[in-house]
Amino acid sequence: MSMISLKGLRHSYLSEPNGDEDWALKRMSVDWSDGGAYALLGPSGCGKTTLLNIISGLITPTEGEVWFDDRNVTEIPPDQRNIAQVFQFPVVYDTMSVYDNLAFPLRNRGVAEGEVDAKVREIADMLDLSETLHNRAAGLTADGKQKISLGRGLVRSDVNVIMFDEPLTVIDPHLKWILRSKLKELHQQIHRTMIYVTHDQTEALTFADQVVVMHEGTVVQIGTPVELFEKPRHTFVGHFIGSPGMNVLPCSLENGTAYFGGHAVPTNHPVAHKADGERLEIGIRPEFVRFADDGIPVQIAKVSDAGRFSIVEANHGDHIIKLLVPDGQAMPSENARLYFDPARTQVYVDGYPFWRFFVKIFIPTIAAGIGVAAFFCFMFSWVELLLAKTLTSVAAKPIAVTMTRTASTSGYELGLLAAAGCLTIVPGAFVIYFVRNYIAKGFALGRV
Ligand code: ADP
Ligand code: MG
Repeated sequence: MSMISLKGLRHSYLSEPNGDEDWALKRMSVDWSDGGAYALLGPSGCGKTTLLNIISGLITPTEGEVWFDDRNVTEIPPDQRNIAQVFQFPVVYDTMSVYDNLAFPLRNRGVAEGEVDAKVREIADMLDLSETLHNRAAGLTADGKQKISLGRGLVRSDVNVIMFDEPLTVIDPHLKWILRSKLKELHQQIHRTMIYVTHDQTEALTFADQVVVMHEGTVVQIGTPVELFEKPRHTFVGHFIGSPGMNVLPCSLENGTAYFGGHAVPTNHPVAHKADGERLEIGIRPEFVRFADDGIPVQIAKVSDAGRFSIVEANHGDHIIKLLVPDGQAMPSENARLYFDPARTQVYVDGYPFWRFFVKIFIPTIAAGIGVAAFFCFMFSWVELLLAKTLTSVAAKPIAVTMTRTASTSGYELGLLAAAGCLTIVPGAFVIYFVRNYIAKGFALGRV
C-alpha cells in the first residue's frame, strides 16, 4: 500500500497542444492518501478516465510525475504498479468459468491454490456469485459479467490501489445500491486505497470520505461531502453538488457590497473588487434562502413537493432563485421577498470565491514582482551598509562580516564574499519558490 502523488501533471492527446482546450487534463497536483476512500466526480468528458489511466500507467502523462510513496513510477509499466482497475464495461474471459475468472489474478501471481480458493469464495460470496461459480462466464448477463470484473479487482490483497471507473453503469438500478454499499463495507474491512469514478453525485457522496471534483480537466475542489456542500470553492461545485444545486446569480459591486438586481446582498465572507472582464456571481444554496418581509422581491413560479419540504422556484426578472420551504410553513401569496443567509452567501470571481482568487491568483501573480523588488532592496541596503562601514569605520557592519573578522583578519575578503553569496540566495530562492509553485498554478487554473 502506498500514498499516490500526482505532481504537476498535465496531459494532452495531441502531439502539439496549443490552447487551453487542447489539454484533456490541465495542470494538477493531487495526493491520494494511503487507505482513503475517494470518489472522482465530474461530468462526462472532464478527464476522469484519463486521470485513472495515468495512475495505472496505461497512459504516460505529457508533463508531470506519478509517485507511489517515494518512488517515481511515471515511466513504469502498468503490470509493475500493483494496481487493480475495474473498467466501465466488463472485462472477463468468456471461455473460463466464473471461478477461474476470479482466480486468474491470483494464479497469475503464483498464489498457493488453497489461498486462491479461500479468497475466490470470499469475494464470490460478497458479490452473490457463489451459486454460479462453476458456470461459464459467457452465459452471464451484463450485470453478472460486471460483478466478475469487480471481483477480479477486489480479489488481490497486495494492490496499492483499487480503481473503479464508473463500474456500475451497466448494472441494474436496484443492484447498484447494494453493490455500492458492499464496496463501502469492503473498504472499511480492508482499508485499501480506493478511487471510485462517477458522474453521479449520490454515488460519490455515499461511497467516499473524500470527493475529488473535476471540471473541464481541472480539479476544482477536494473535500468531504459536507465541505463540498457547505463551502463550495467554485460555482461549478455548488451547482453540481446538491439537489437542487446552488443558486448562482450575477451581481455587481459597490463600495464592497454585492448587489443583485439593484438590491444589496449582505455576506459575511470577503468580497472582491471587480476588475475589468471578470464575472462576479453570488452563490447561495436553496437551503439557505427563505421568505422574509424585507429583501429581494420575487414572483413564485413553481412549487414542487419533495417530501418533507417543497422546492420553490421564484423569479426575479429573468433569474430563477430556488429555495426549500419546510412542510407546513406558509408561503406568501403576494409581495414575496427573499432573504439570503449572509453566513452562507459567497461572492465568486470567475467561479472562485474572492479569498481563493486573492490567495491563489492575485498574490502569486505579484509575488515575482515582490521578490525582485525585495532582491534589489536587499542589494542596495547591502551596498549602503558597506559604504557606511567604509565611511565611518564604526559599528555599521553586517554580522557575517564581523564574525569572519573575529575569526581571521586574513580571511576577511573571502568571508565577505561568502556572506554576501549566502545572503543573496535568500531572495533568489524566494522568487524561484513563488514562480514555481504559484505562478505555474495560476496558469494551470487558467486565471493568469
Ligand atoms: P471522462 O472519463 O471524465 O468522461 P475522459 O478522460 O474519457 O473523460 O476524456 C477527457 C477528454 O479527453 C475528452 O474531451 C475526450 O474527448 C478526450 N479523450 C479521451 N480519450 C481520448 C483519446 N484516446 N484520444 C483523444 N482524445 C481523447
Ligand atoms: Mg470515463
